[in-house]
Amino acid sequence: MAIPSPVEPCDFTVFGGTGDLALRKLLPALYLRDRDGQLPDGFRVIGVSRHTADDDAYRAMVRDALTQHVSSADLDEAAVARLLARLHHVELDVEDVGAWHLLHARLKEGAASEDVIRVFYLAVAPGLFGTICEHLDEVGLATERSRVVLEKPMGSDLATARRVNEAVGRVFEESNIFRIDHYLGKESVQNLLVTRFANTFLEPLWNSHWVDHVQITAAESLGVGERGSYYDRSGALRDMVQNHLLQLLCLVAMEPPTYVDRETVRDEKLKVLQALRPMTPELVDRDVVAGQYAAGLCDGAPAKAYVDEVGQPSDTETFVALRTEVQNWRWAGVPFYLRTGKRLPERVSEIVVVFKEPPHAMFPHSEGPTEPNRLHIRVQPDEGMRLHMTAKEPGPGGIRLRPVSLDLSYAAAFGARSPDAYERLLMDVVRGNPTLFMRRDEVEAAWAWVAPILDRWSQPTHRPRRYPAGTNGPVAAATLLERDGRSWQETE
Ligand code: NAD
Repeated sequence: MAIPSPVEPCDFTVFGGTGDLALRKLLPALYLRDRDGQLPDGFRVIGVSRHTADDDAYRAMVRDALTQHVSSADLDEAAVARLLARLHHVELDVEDVGAWHLLHARLKEGAASEDVIRVFYLAVAPGLFGTICEHLDEVGLATERSRVVLEKPMGSDLATARRVNEAVGRVFEESNIFRIDHYLGKESVQNLLVTRFANTFLEPLWNSHWVDHVQITAAESLGVGERGSYYDRSGALRDMVQNHLLQLLCLVAMEPPTYVDRETVRDEKLKVLQALRPMTPELVDRDVVAGQYAAGLCDGAPAKAYVDEVGQPSDTETFVALRTEVQNWRWAGVPFYLRTGKRLPERVSEIVVVFKEPPHAMFPHSEGPTEPNRLHIRVQPDEGMRLHMTAKEPGPGGIRLRPVSLDLSYAAAFGARSPDAYERLLMDVVRGNPTLFMRRDEVEAAWAWVAPILDRWSQPTHRPRRYPAGTNGPVAAATLLERDGRSWQETE
């Protein structure tokens, strides 16, 4: 969040360099940063995988991936050639102790300098994180100038998260561990902090005196598709709530840090996680809804039930809605409603802050609806913000009230392409700025908070409620708000 420092030469190693994440997200992000002139001479990208591929074969694979995953308007032949020239591939099974010298040799050969910055991006299953770090240490590649990037899932519960953190922490200092949550790299998410803390008009209202409640939704229209075997062991609570939704909640609810640096924002987020109302078995039953999609219609086409997609009976939830509170001075009594799911009507992630009604109804005889003010922060797609307010409809005669909105569309206001979250985050790793990454204590606090839900749902009687694909989730999700006299803000 500080002014970016120049990028030093770096050896950027991607374990899982031929995988979906690397080819679809990481290499396109590095390509776009390179195209925009941000990668210096001497910056190399080394893909490590079990594939048999020499440098040329890997370059061909990456060229295909860029063609598929970068828009044609952003593809520039000279820039593609520049990135490909930086690429190398090392075939290595990370569990094969005897083969690690190959990686060591490749990294030493032709490095920009002895103490070049080394980034190790672990785009592989978390079960391999500990092994990789251990071997990096053994072959002398884990130095003070080395950084390790961990992808989700960061464990599957508090105990496994601790094990992963301990294994990685035995080799790398916390300041060199970057736990990625790509939601934090989104422009609109960073803009939430700027909107709150670089303006004066919102912050006086941003509390239980003026805010009625907050809704956070991360909806997808797709089903599990190819990810069925991973997803069936995870579910929406682990895949989305423990990380992305709680991180968004933290940014909405946190106190202003005195200044922004690598620790202050994370300190404030941690305090929010620690202030979340602890879940009890009774609260889980009352305030948390699990759903699973049945067959239905999505985008006008028939969509299979979840169990048919994974090909087996399953009680894994593909939908979660929950109500919680942040138990501190600012937010006492304000409900935070969180919701995420697959096979919902559309792909949209949005935070909605719903303000209270004006304290006095001055226009009792006016025509038209009065609605409370709402601030919609659109995280994806079409990042931006919309403030809903009430205005007088132009015209003579009586006063007619009309809801109107003040819109800030990023694309319209700034014209520029909104960079993908990975572009921002990868460069932050290279620069050594961890502000937008999750610290170990945050990850563990989030797991500790969801633990009672996982416990309750591990009972044999627990069954997610079915909802037809293409709808807004089970009826119980609507009831969760209706019983408080509220309703979900569906997208307009
Ligand atoms: P993938 O199956 O497409 O690719 C796995 C990659 O890891 C391949 O390059 C493979 O060769 C390599 N690999 C596996 N075992 C190895 C070993 N023993 N030694 C060396 N290389 C090995 O997987 P993916 O979709 O790219 O996901 C990788 C990880 O990132 C998973 O843990 C996944 O949950 C996580 N993740 C993926 C995405 C995504 O969009 N794909 C998003 C977030 C997190």
